[in-house]
Amino acid sequence: MFVRKIGIDLGTANTLVYIPQKGIVINEPSVVAVSIEDNRVLAVGNEAKEMIGKTPETIVAYRPLKDGVIADYRVTQAMLSYFINKAGGRFRIFKPEVMVSVPAGITSTERRAVIEATLHAGAKTAYVAKEPILAAIGAGIPINSPAGNMIVDIGGGTSEVAIISLGGIVAWSSVRVAGDKIDKAIADYIKKKYNLVIGERTAEQIKIQIGSAIPNPERGNLKIKGRDLIEGLPKTIEFTNKEVVEAISGELKEIVRVIKSVLQVTPPELAADVIDRGMFLSGGGALLSNVDDLISKATGVPCYVIGDPLLGVVKGTGIILENLEVYKRSIMSKK
Ligand code: ADP
Ligand code: MG
Repeated sequence: MFVRKIGIDLGTANTLVYIPQKGIVINEPSVVAVSIEDNRVLAVGNEAKEMIGKTPETIVAYRPLKDGVIADYRVTQAMLSYFINKAGGRFRIFKPEVMVSVPAGITSTERRAVIEATLHAGAKTAYVAKEPILAAIGAGIPINSPAGNMIVDIGGGTSEVAIISLGGIVAWSSVRVAGDKIDKAIADYIKKKYNLVIGERTAEQIKIQIGSAIPNPERGNLKIKGRDLIEGLPKTIEFTNKEVVEAISGELKEIVRVIKSVLQVTPPELAADVIDRGMFLSGGGALLSNVDDLISKATGVPCYVIGDPLLGVVKGTGIILENLEVYKRSIMSKK
């Protein structure tokens, strides 16, 4: 089968690739390993993530996207090429049409960088669409209707909040606080309270295994291994759900603050729709236990997590690619 259309969720944390009629064919971390000496890309995705924190001095493994936009153009292009080739197969006859997700707050220069990188990576046509719109489409929300639909996407680098009506974004804001900062807050808390140094992957595991947005004893405790800051030796502590909640409460407050700020500038007619329909949470951060409860309580607006929140954006790229005419108002493109 020839692959003619490819949808890509180019996230700060994870890149997902969707092919119409096939579904999600790639779901890997947005990480690239580069050799310092000759600046060569050595590994991409899963293989590169394994290298983080374990690389010899001659190799660096890092994420080329910061806050959802391209921080390192050359490396992002190499990563896109890798994913497009992997999805499209080696012996392609037709160049594919590619749809890439971008953050709502992207500047026109940044948007051009994504389009150029996609075309250089082998696309015939590069389309881009904004993440909150794609997440809404992926969740089955009728974005072309003349009604207010609210999406909150909590990813790795940013939390984006948008009100969508008639296929476009009417009100919007974002904050550079999301999964990564939450992980960092956990690591900082443990360092301060227990003099224990843990890596970012351990902090993420703690969040996923026992974390929640409001105290929830059912989430349990976890034994954590790290390095004692004073003695420099390995040490184990028992960490509780309550401590995670305490550690991450400041970050969650920031996210709630940006949600409120968008509600405050939403035109009244659309705000009425949002109160009726509720807001929808997408992105990996929506999987944090009780985050929907915390947000509804803080804002007074019902809050729902979309099905498969990690997949909403990439599913949206697939749906939009198959219905370009229907969603033309939401697409920015270049041949
Ligand atoms: P991006 O779009 O920026 O690549 P994603 O939507 O893929 O981000 O979300 C990645 C974030 O989701 C990471 O910070 C990850 O730790 C977090 N995450 C994934 N699963 C869970 C979970 N079960 N609970 C809490 N956070 C989660
Ligand atoms: Mg995302």
